[in-house]
Amino acid sequence: MNSTDSTPTNFLKAIVEDDLKTDKYAGRVHTRFPPEPNGYLHIGHAKAICIDFGIAAEYEGLCNLRFDDTNPTKEDIEYIKAIQEDIKWLGFDWEDRLYYASDYFEQMYKYAIQLIKEGKAYVCSLSEQKIREYRGTVKQPGKESPYRNRSTEENLDLFERMHAGEFKDGTHVLRAKIDMASPNMKMRDPLIYRIRHASHHRTGDKWCIYPMYDFAHCLEDSIERITHSFCTLEFENNREIYDWFLDELNIFHSQQIEFARLNLSHTIMSKRKLLELVEGGYVTGWDDPRMPTISGLRRRGYTPESIRNFCDRIGVAKSESLVDMALLEYCIREDLNKRTPRVMAVLRPLKVVIDNYPEDKVEEMDAVNNPEDPSMGTRKVPLSQVLYIERDDFREYPPKKFFRLAPDREVRLRYAYLIKCVNVVKDKQTGEIVELHCTYDPASRGGSSPDGRKVKATLHWVSAANSIPAEVRLYDHLLSVPNPSEEKDCADFKDCLNPKSLETLTSCRIEPSLLCAKPGNRYQFERLGYFCVDPDSSDEMLVFNRTVTLRDTWARIQKAEKQKR
Ligand code: ATP
Ligand code: MG
Repeated sequence: MNSTDSTPTNFLKAIVEDDLKTDKYAGRVHTRFPPEPNGYLHIGHAKAICIDFGIAAEYEGLCNLRFDDTNPTKEDIEYIKAIQEDIKWLGFDWEDRLYYASDYFEQMYKYAIQLIKEGKAYVCSLSEQKIREYRGTVKQPGKESPYRNRSTEENLDLFERMHAGEFKDGTHVLRAKIDMASPNMKMRDPLIYRIRHASHHRTGDKWCIYPMYDFAHCLEDSIERITHSFCTLEFENNREIYDWFLDELNIFHSQQIEFARLNLSHTIMSKRKLLELVEGGYVTGWDDPRMPTISGLRRRGYTPESIRNFCDRIGVAKSESLVDMALLEYCIREDLNKRTPRVMAVLRPLKVVIDNYPEDKVEEMDAVNNPEDPSMGTRKVPLSQVLYIERDDFREYPPKKFFRLAPDREVRLRYAYLIKCVNVVKDKQTGEIVELHCTYDPASRGGSSPDGRKVKATLHWVSAANSIPAEVRLYDHLLSVPNPSEEKDCADFKDCLNPKSLETLTSCRIEPSLLCAKPGNRYQFERLGYFCVDPDSSDEMLVFNRTVTLRDTWARIQKAEKQKR
């Protein structure tokens, strides 16, 4: 794992700087981010976006947004919109350079014809099954297709008829004529075009043959005159074929450079699997706050700055690793600590009556909005005779080291008074504690101790009459294990879903300063964590998502790692 060093050595930048020095692309740096519009973007894509757009910006270059839509599918429009929204929200701009791979279908078709004419591609009529058999294995060379030596005329004729829609799906494919014995399986006469009688979201029914990714991607880069084509390590074996096509066609040669993808603990980083969760109803949608999608993180309360900062900290490497979720949480906590106002909210209310406080009195207590930033000012919080405190903050029989409220014990109410518990009222039937009776010390206004007597705990609270109801959703990891692929009894990643990933609390109370809170507003609830108003909020009920708790597990992990060394 990478450390939190703020200046990670980045080998991609080193390559770009080298190319600038040698003037390889006449001083140009032009990158692209090429999502396939078959799902929403996730935090792994954020890493790629930060690299593609970030490096272009750093070297005064350009970065295109290109939808890699060579695969005809149906629901693309929703994804295309969401992807653009997410990239913009992250803070990046493709300006007027929004492209679609499908816009190049005509040009790609011409390149295919060029390869056929030069004897570098042929129409193969083996079945899919046979093609696989003939490909051989990593240990064994493949066998040449019996159609490999068709004449150029026959190939041209067949390919044109494929194009014209004369054949059924799967009857013929166009293949590059490279080397069936190549140690790189990708080079064993890879498929260039297949027949698919399917409508495309942009080109409609114009095409019934579609280019394969391995052929299309390098051409897209070349057509856009991309200089540095960054991609993840699983494409390493593709580089040889990428180079082969560009060299054989003798067209602009972009350079593919691979880096390690982001893997994050306790979640999954694959659109296919995320789609399974959405379609199977395991989550409420792509933007469910438990999802590692950009839209999920946004709804959860993450800021674009915290995600960019996270991508910076993890750096760029050439080998796979698993980044601990605690680091992402550290980044958002650090950001929100500086920017969010602190307020008081009680998630699991326990009623407290202050016996010696006048029944009809309401006092406005002065509260600090953010001790980290005095410029954020102060506010008034109303205090009255009946209050709520957190159920967890009281124990009838306090264990050792429990310093919060207990019978006959005095604690501080934040920004208010010292109170002492004098009576515990229980439900006669269930024995459940229903309310506490306390007395307050009028001389302790503001929470100061009038005679220097010590109290060991400060509790948050809200006034019963002067607080507003809220629903609060608490989240835990989506998966109950760090890495499902390392688990024996986790054949399907869904077996590792954390059954406790969501806890909904519906009787929470919030201080009245939040009355006008809007979806997207973020707060620190004192002692409870950072929270963000959810779009599910209505005039009757505010709904909050807990973005992250206040506990810094990342610091603990780092300390433990240091001790190991
Ligand atoms: P998934 O496996 O989640 O479906 P993908 O690679 O198929 O992802 P694309 O839309 O093809 O998704 O990816 C667009 C770009 O994002 C590619 O350049 C890809 O390499 C990069 N990318 C995808 N996942 C990650 C990741 N986990 N870390 C870094 N970059 C990623
Ligand atoms: Mg993909």
